[in-house]
Amino acid sequence: MAGHIIKVCNLSYRYADGTQALRGLSFSILSGEKVALMGPNGAGKSTLLLHLNGLYLAQEGEVWVLGRRVSRSNAEEVRKLVGMVFQDPDDQVLAPTVEEDVAFGPRNMGLEPEEVKRRVDKALEDVGLLDLRRKAPHNLSYGQKKRVAIAGVLAMQPEILVLDEPMAFLDPLGQEGLLAILDRYHRAGKTLVIATHDVDFAAAWADRILILSQGSLLASGPAQILCDAGLVQRAGLRLPLVAQLFYGYLPPGSALPHDLTSGRSLLGELLRQG
Ligand code: ADP
Ligand code: MG
Repeated sequence: MAGHIIKVCNLSYRYADGTQALRGLSFSILSGEKVALMGPNGAGKSTLLLHLNGLYLAQEGEVWVLGRRVSRSNAEEVRKLVGMVFQDPDDQVLAPTVEEDVAFGPRNMGLEPEEVKRRVDKALEDVGLLDLRRKAPHNLSYGQKKRVAIAGVLAMQPEILVLDEPMAFLDPLGQEGLLAILDRYHRAGKTLVIATHDVDFAAAWADRILILSQGSLLASGPAQILCDAGLVQRAGLRLPLVAQLFYGYLPPGSALPHDLTSGRSLLGELLRQG
């Protein structure tokens, strides 16, 4: 399994009330890959992510992270390797001040106080929250809390960064800032997994798309698979806007553009042809 940083084999999960959230999932993720986990509300995205960092343990099947089979005995170690930003920051941001909240993870890892401080400063700077470091998180806006949660995970410098709907509630500048952070993380060789139902973001950002539907894996492939009209409809998603723009105007069999860059170059070509 050289290069596979995450491997999920036949994973199933059922909640206590009987909801079958995951059904026999199998896939793997390469080291350094940018993966978008997609699917409509209730598809099982959050449930799956919680398995990747050992918060949930497989009831059936296996989850492997960096060569370790995730189990009760190594779940704590796995949590340091796989940093997870929850969908709802209110589940994650709990300390009395912003800076204490961000320091919680690194301190828990047993780092020296100077190193904790260095990481907290850096993470707060990265998410643009240095000015708010002494505020109480419950007085912040939802988007600001989301950035606190992201800073807390960045400060742990995990090998794999998992984010559940990270763009929700961020303003355009906040989204751009987060994209820049993710880019830096990716260039440092880290692996990124993002759950989202935002097809425009996923098509532009991801190396690979995993599509969940009712707890099963419906498709896996490069961002271009989001231009398959039949697939996105079955998945409860939609075509990226740029693909919708060209839909019906291209000769049969030609590929729809999945992101702005490919859309603009196709448009340039069409204009040149007259
Ligand atoms: P997604 O993140 O794709 O929206 P989830 O993983 O949150 O999907 O949910 C998958 C399914 O599991 C849904 O049917 C949801 O209602 C159900 N579910 C999620 N959390 C719980 C829970 N704590 N108890 C019972 N059912 C749950
Ligand atoms: Mg979710």
